Amino acid sequence: MPPTKKVLLVFLPSESGVDGARSLYSEKEINPLLGFFNRSLRTIIKQSQFAIPPLSLMILSSVEVPGVRQSICDMRFEEFPWNEKWDLVGISVQTGMAKNAFALADKLRSAAIPVALGGAHVTLFPESCRPHADVLVPGEADDLWKEVLTDLAAGILKPLYRSDNFPDLGRSRPVSKTSLIKRRYFTTNLIQTGRGCQYSCDFCNVHLLNGHTLRRRAIADVVSEVARFQQDDRRIFFFVDDSINADPVYALELFRKLTPLKIRWFGQATTTLGQQHELLKTFANSGCQALLVGIESIEAKSRSAHKKNQNRAGELVRAITTIRDAGISLYGSFIYGLDGDTVDTPAAILDFIHETKLDVPGINILRPTPGTQVFERLREEGRLLFDPLDITAYRYSFGQEMLYLPKNISLDAFIESYSTLTRKVFTIKNSVTRGLSAPRAKSAVMLFNLFYTHLYGLSRRDLQHQRENNF
Ligand code: SF4
Repeated sequence: MPPTKKVLLVFLPSESGVDGARSLYSEKEINPLLGFFNRSLRTIIKQSQFAIPPLSLMILSSVEVPGVRQSICDMRFEEFPWNEKWDLVGISVQTGMAKNAFALADKLRSAAIPVALGGAHVTLFPESCRPHADVLVPGEADDLWKEVLTDLAAGILKPLYRSDNFPDLGRSRPVSKTSLIKRRYFTTNLIQTGRGCQYSCDFCNVHLLNGHTLRRRAIADVVSEVARFQQDDRRIFFFVDDSINADPVYALELFRKLTPLKIRWFGQATTTLGQQHELLKTFANSGCQALLVGIESIEAKSRSAHKKNQNRAGELVRAITTIRDAGISLYGSFIYGLDGDTVDTPAAILDFIHETKLDVPGINILRPTPGTQVFERLREEGRLLFDPLDITAYRYSFGQEMLYLPKNISLDAFIESYSTLTRKVFTIKNSVTRGLSAPRAKSAVMLFNLFYTHLYGLSRRDLQHQRENNF
């Protein structure tokens, strides 16, 4: 019998954000004392276990092929295990971390370890990934990965595995958590219910990566996965789906069936939920603690400039109030710097946060991620502040970097107004108040606000650094 092939699936940390809040610049450059404080805080944040496992690697590591054994290396917590022999290393490449992924891939290949690259960046830019990989797997890999592993076992790996169709999520593919180290994470209970989004917001790549058609897993599969997962981890569940209420008939049946399991859960929804009264009640009864909603903009001009058309700004306040009144806490994310925004927008965002009592506000700067429609438009208009031809030049950050020229606001005025807004929204006092007044998940709401108070402090310092160095 041939020896078992060993496969390692690698997840890389982003340069900042929840993976380890840090300045984008050398901490020595800022101030040694501040550097020490930031490093200590980073350790505390990591130990607070905000991290959740990489779902895509959980799914791939659950694919079983005779003669192949898979494990996961989450490099947010551990170094790459160079002392072991690997027959194939799969790296999930996200745009914003591509440079680090390619550096690791190159190092592995120079040590004669074959590398397979997959993930969002490979799907959007396969040709730029080709020089760093033995095997490319663009697109959703649920079915393709089985082919890769089967070919690995037979010693006939091909350079490209691609499918013209999205996988049928209705087919049963049970996910296993055996490759995860449970204590590292906030929870290991991540469950995907569906993929795809029918909208086309120009700053988003979900519809490009997963298509415009909503695809859902079979309700019976999701329910049995929840029942199985809760046996070894009683912590919170995360339902991974860009908008869990987009198909209300499906969602109603699913969460009615989940209610007897008495779980607590977080998810993502659109504010339309405020008008879906029966579904809202069912969410609350089934243990929904908090939802992330993408508010993005309250400026009508910005919403139409960026094709964020699915809910009107005027309806947002009522919808958010209705959802909170049903006993569900809300994380609302905004983007400042859209094409209809002016220097008056921050004051409107601040009023909106006060009026709605949003539990966790997230205030992002527009990120022109390569591959998105907004990236292409800003490139054509000459408004990008990074090299659009260098596909690795874009990096992920959390409001810490200006990557483009806003349309109606000078860079100086933008940084000034954004910094003033985040300074007003994120304070220790506001964090405690929001935590205490949250309908549910009070301690998580408070911790998130405190964490953001630190993170937006980093944002202000990094933006100032960028300004002083002329971008
Ligand atoms: S931002 Fe949300 S609603 Fe818009 S395309 Fe992306 S996933 Fe869909």
